[in-house]
Amino acid sequence: MRTAFFGGSFDPPHLGHIAVARAAQQALQLDQVLFAPVGLQPLKPAGSTAPFADRVAMTQLAIAGQPHFEICTIDAPDPAHVTPNYTADTLIRLRGTLPIADQLFLLIGADSFRTLPRWHRSAEIPCLASLIVAARPNEDLSNLADHLPRGVTLNQLATPGARQHVRYLLRNPEGTQAYLYLLPNLNFEISATQLRRQIQGHPTRQAPLLAPAVLSYIHQHNLYR
Ligand code: ATP
Repeated sequence: MRTAFFGGSFDPPHLGHIAVARAAQQALQLDQVLFAPVGLQPLKPAGSTAPFADRVAMTQLAIAGQPHFEICTIDAPDPAHVTPNYTADTLIRLRGTLPIADQLFLLIGADSFRTLPRWHRSAEIPCLASLIVAARPNEDLSNLADHLPRGVTLNQLATPGARQHVRYLLRNPEGTQAYLYLLPNLNFEISATQLRRQIQGHPTRQAPLLAPAVLSYIHQHNLYR
C-alpha cells in the first residue's frame, strides 16, 4: 500500500484540498490519502476557528464518495490542550499502525513546505515519510533547497515518463536518503482564510469553492460568523 498523510487545519476543508489530494493520488499512484485535521497546529498558536469535531465532520463531508480518500483522527487534540500536534510524532505513530512493507508519504502545500525548517525535529521528517510538495499560487518553489532543514541536501533525479511530478533525492546529515516529489503544475487559487472571510461577510451567499455539503454544515452549525 502507498499511503499519504495529508494533515491540516481544514478550517474549513475546501476544493483546493480535494484537488491537491487528487493530483497527488494520481501522480504517485497512492492507494489512500489520509485527511487528518490537526488538533493544535504548532505554527498556528492561536488555534483554529472551528472546533476539532466540526472540522472532522466537515472533512468527512468533503471527501464523501471520493475514491482513495479517508478521514484520519490520529492528530486529535491533546486532551489537556497543552501540547501541539507535531508531525514528526504523528508520522512515527502512523508508521507503527501500517504494515512494514507499506510506503508512507507526507503531502504538503508549498506554503507549508516553506516553513519546514521551523518544524519540530524537521530533519527527521523526510526519513519518516517521502515528501510530496504541491505548488500553490504565489509560493515560490524555484529553490527547493532553501526550504530544507539544516544539513539536508537535494539532487534532482531523472523521472522518465513522469509528467505530473519531479523527483528529488534528499540526504540528511547522517547520510540517510529519502525522496521528495514536487507537483509543479498545480495552481489552485483558494485558501481557508479567504473562505472564512467570505462566509463572515456574506453568510448566505453560495461559496463555490466549498463542497455543497460542507457549506450546509457551516450554515447549520453557525460556523465562521
Ligand atoms: P489557512 O488559509 O487557514 O491557512 P489553508 O487553505 O492553507 O488554510 P490548511 O488546512 O491549513 O488550508 O492546509 C492543509 C494543507 O493543504 C497544507 O499543507 C496546505 O499547504 C495545503 N493546501 C491548502 N490549500 C492549498 C492550495 N490551494 N494549493 C496547494 N496546497 C494547499
